[in-house]
Amino acid sequence: MKTQAEAGDQSRGRVHRTRVLIIGAGFSGMGMAIQLGRRGRRDFIILEKATEFGGTWHENTYPGCACDIPSHMYSFSFEPNPHWSKMWAGQPEILEYLKGLAVKHNLRANTHFGKTLYGAAWDEATHRWHVRTEEGDEYIAQFLVSGIGGLHVPNVPKVAGIEKFSGTTFHSAQWNHEYDLRGKRVAVIGTGASAIQFVPEIVDEVAELHLYQRTPPWVLPRTNITIPAAVRELFSAVPVTRRLARDGIYWSWESLGIGLNGRTNLMKPLEQLARRNIERSIKDPELARKLFPDYRIGCKRILGSNDYYPALAKPHTTVITDGITEVTEHGIISADGVEREVDAIIYATGFEITGGFSRLDIVGLEGRKLAEQWAEHGLETHLGITVAGFPNAFFLLGPNTGLGHNSVVFMIEQQIKYTLNAMALADHRGVEALTVRRAVQDRFNDEIQRKLSSGVWSTGGCDSWYLDAAGVNRTVWPGYTWQYWLRARRVEPTEFELLDSARPTPDKVAAR
Ligand code: NAP
Repeated sequence: MKTQAEAGDQSRGRVHRTRVLIIGAGFSGMGMAIQLGRRGRRDFIILEKATEFGGTWHENTYPGCACDIPSHMYSFSFEPNPHWSKMWAGQPEILEYLKGLAVKHNLRANTHFGKTLYGAAWDEATHRWHVRTEEGDEYIAQFLVSGIGGLHVPNVPKVAGIEKFSGTTFHSAQWNHEYDLRGKRVAVIGTGASAIQFVPEIVDEVAELHLYQRTPPWVLPRTNITIPAAVRELFSAVPVTRRLARDGIYWSWESLGIGLNGRTNLMKPLEQLARRNIERSIKDPELARKLFPDYRIGCKRILGSNDYYPALAKPHTTVITDGITEVTEHGIISADGVEREVDAIIYATGFEITGGFSRLDIVGLEGRKLAEQWAEHGLETHLGITVAGFPNAFFLLGPNTGLGHNSVVFMIEQQIKYTLNAMALADHRGVEALTVRRAVQDRFNDEIQRKLSSGVWSTGGCDSWYLDAAGVNRTVWPGYTWQYWLRARRVEPTEFELLDSARPTPDKVAAR
């Protein structure tokens, strides 16, 4: 029997027509497809560059990979899973959940694997998106829904001399499972959400661990609770109990938003907790000094682990805070002039946040290019979902809808509903296309940037990937997630230009 990827290859070079083209088969793309299916619409195609469902949970397989948001909240409300084995489920269990949904909703039949979006152009005469893949396929669709997210293009720093290194290198999101770390001298660059999960997992395998830290993260103590079988049975037999547990998680995590969004002094007790987490495990005052952050908690993503600091306290672990100046054939030279020989370098250096979009050739009305527009003016959208001048295109988990304190799956669900409502609006009005008005988008961006200016991401005294090169926050939603729910629960018809064949371009989409 042929794999889906092979079946996809068979279709190479063909032109496929569909109503909705969804890019990406992770949480966003799958959620969109499921909700279309539930409305009896199977006229969609999902394009996925990988060979399986799961998105980030398919790609990231590093040891210890897990979600740092409780699983009962980091899952679809419309597809609850009473059987999560732990409070914070690991990557294999999350991937199983998503693959199970693909089977249940028969998504494989509508998914073309091994297809990487190359570009898309809006045809003003026919009101259709013409989409090309890197593999040479063409897709023609009325609606284009991006589920590609911002965290999938690995950021590999350009370190001087890296081409001379004779050992092994790989990024945490492209873990090399063939490489046996046992007995090796290993350098890890980066101390973010990924590193703090895999460092404790590999520390006892390796002979030496050299951790290159640029900025220390705030790490709260966290014990991953195994959910007892009796509780799982109760969740399964009496769904309201699972629902109550989810609501409890939602509101307790939502309360963190109070401190993040302006009242940052309220975060001090959390800093005390995180300080005690360091003091409990790190007895060497010099090492402890390196690990205390000097910025407000929440300015970067708040992390949780009981194992991270004990891993750093091991005698064969060295935390290096002097920057990397050069990589040699056998090791890394830091700013203090010391060369440390290593067999492997693991990049835990995160992702190119705009990378997913800036490489794409997306052309909207009047030949406007999305990458150029966003490079020039920053990543601006309305509600993180729609962009003026790009009709019938919807971005799930688009700019300014990431979160520092709750589940992004909640945000994705609101965006899916909004997208479906926008499609329904076009249908009800008897038009084939609609595009958000520029003034509406500008008002939205002014409002969120005003709110963000008092948030911890701007005032907390740190630099982070939440901010773009100009220091503007283009990633985080400035407020509570229920406020986003309120904003996105209905599509306001007056906020859109409706396009029909007699009037192919909107009257008032001002060119920028
Ligand atoms: P990250 O949080 O962006 O951390 C990257 C780390 O690499 C930081 O410590 C950064 O230092 C360092 N770094 C980057 N470039 C460097 C350079 N040129 N030289 C030296 N150090 C460098 O990346 P991540 O850990 O992969 O996580 C990315 C995001 O993915 C997270 O914020 C989160 O949203 C998501 N994630 C989520 C989970 C989860 O459990 N839900 C797990 C993993 C990842 P600076 O701090 O100084 O920039």
